[in-house]
Amino acid sequence: MDVDEIRSDLTEVLITEDEIHAKLAELARRVETDYAGNPPLLVGVLKGAVMVMADFARELKMHVEMDWMAVSSYGASTESSGVVRILKDLDTEIAGRDVLIVEDIIDSGLTLTWLRANLESRGAASVKILALLRKPEAAKVEVDVEYVGFEIPPAFVVGYGLDYAEKYRNLRAIGVLAPHVYQ
Ligand code: 5GP
Repeated sequence: MDVDEIRSDLTEVLITEDEIHAKLAELARRVETDYAGNPPLLVGVLKGAVMVMADFARELKMHVEMDWMAVSSYGASTESSGVVRILKDLDTEIAGRDVLIVEDIIDSGLTLTWLRANLESRGAASVKILALLRKPEAAKVEVDVEYVGFEIPPAFVVGYGLDYAEKYRNLRAIGVLAPHVYQ
């Protein structure tokens, strides 16, 4: 889906499809250098990271394996609590592996802090994080993210995997959702 189809649902287009792909290419070159001769296991977090994973993995000029986790925060609050429940676990044994978590967005960072600790506790050789977007002003905890695509303001964004009520995930660009959609 292109921006033109839902233009009035957005207050602005934050990042275009071309900008996303250029950034993923840049990150892929860094990952190829950092993991040279030692291909990582990419772990995507469902469902938001599906688009990032698909494009980033194809951009990489090296063999990688992919696996997926689905997690949810406990409680009904829209605020991230940092307490996480695993809805779908990895199929892969990660002891001794170099793991690269692939995420769409980091808001409070609580989910990723928990996830990294969880994967480290399984004996992974290393656990690093790649996130396409980061909202720095919302950071509640210091989470070390090795690869960040774009720093964005603390607005609610949709597109490229990110949803509002399961919609907009298939939007090619990333935009700020207009208040009239959710108010
Ligand atoms: P946190 O970093 O706060 O633990 O949680 C990050 C998760 O919150 C993301 O994986 C995503 O599902 C959701 N999230 C945070 N900010 C946004 C946003 O601006 N738009 C959308 N669609 N989801 C967001």
